[in-house]
Amino acid sequence: MKDYSDSPFLVIWEVTQACDLACRHCRATAQPSRHPAELTTEEGFRLLDQVKGFGHPLMVFTGGDPLKRPDLLPLLRYSTSIGLRTTVTPSATPLLTPQAIAGFKTAGVCRIALSVDGADAGTHDRFRGVEGSYALTMRGFAAARAAQLETQVNTTVTRGNLHQLPRIAELVEQAGARMWSVFFLVTTGRAVESDDLTAEEYEQVFAFLYELGTRAPFDIKTTEAPHYRRYVSQRKRAEGLTSSATRRMMDDSPAVLRQAGIRDGKGLLFVSHAGDIFPSGFLPVSAGNLRTMSLADAYRNTPLFQVLRDSDALGGKCGDCNYRHLCGGSRARALAVSGDYMAEEPRCSYQPSAAQQPGSAHGASPQPQPEGAYV
Ligand code: SF4
Repeated sequence: MKDYSDSPFLVIWEVTQACDLACRHCRATAQPSRHPAELTTEEGFRLLDQVKGFGHPLMVFTGGDPLKRPDLLPLLRYSTSIGLRTTVTPSATPLLTPQAIAGFKTAGVCRIALSVDGADAGTHDRFRGVEGSYALTMRGFAAARAAQLETQVNTTVTRGNLHQLPRIAELVEQAGARMWSVFFLVTTGRAVESDDLTAEEYEQVFAFLYELGTRAPFDIKTTEAPHYRRYVSQRKRAEGLTSSATRRMMDDSPAVLRQAGIRDGKGLLFVSHAGDIFPSGFLPVSAGNLRTMSLADAYRNTPLFQVLRDSDALGGKCGDCNYRHLCGGSRARALAVSGDYMAEEPRCSYQPSAAQQPGSAHGASPQPQPEGAYV
């Protein structure tokens, strides 16, 4: 597994919180109008320079709806011109025209991600809070195919669409998407706890994704569910793959395993519309602001980011877990549910054997575990 103490794998910039949708689980609690404290175009350029200073992280432009910024294309062009692999996650509104998508392609964007939260227009539009969003999403996929621009589907799993996942998977295939990114709910922003699944249901979704991944023509990854990697490792071991073979897989290929060890603040960095530097978009604890500190200083040197990367500082059963380096649980969900971002992942059903041993209670020194255990 890579060491992410120096550089993140992924930097996400929320270019604006403005959006014309009203999604019921919106992390950003988006509003129709742009916030006056948004980073300026010039500050955006400097932010991108700082991201480039890390090396080659993947650069994600998100929102709100990035298309609400009139300077989006110059910012995207600058990002790609300095060598950043750049993706963008527009909202499916009338702003997402075929011309806008062709503009992304011309700017050098390598992939766009569109959200699909229901297998039919009724379910999707209810989630998104605006009628017609589903049809615009499908138009977006068609325009991306015409522009030969790679696509990704983002789906947030909730109680409202759990039963539709197989049909949404069919849509991902029909759209010709390269990746299905399955988000697991964190009750921040507009999301509410009653929409979330139980730990047992997380396991059922993991099983579905794992089986699907053996035959789907697209990659699958999870967001805010690092314990899917634990699930994959357990399945690989059950199928007879050795620890070292699994380790090699993680270096080489499938999307989920390429993410090994990455979680909020560890390999991941989020910059808000106003320049606040967060460990992820779902973990609203700021390490500082871009207007007063550098991105590198926030990521490398602040106590917040340093402790989030310390798997041995995790609390509860995550701290005792042999998968803590590979997984470590969602720090954002730990905060949302318990108020402590170092607490155990509240939606994981795995019981590390060390958790049963004397002296392994929350906050105590973890029992010795195989270093970087994968399986
Ligand atoms: S107990 Fe924590 S570290 Fe272990 S698999 Fe579950 S979420 Fe991951």
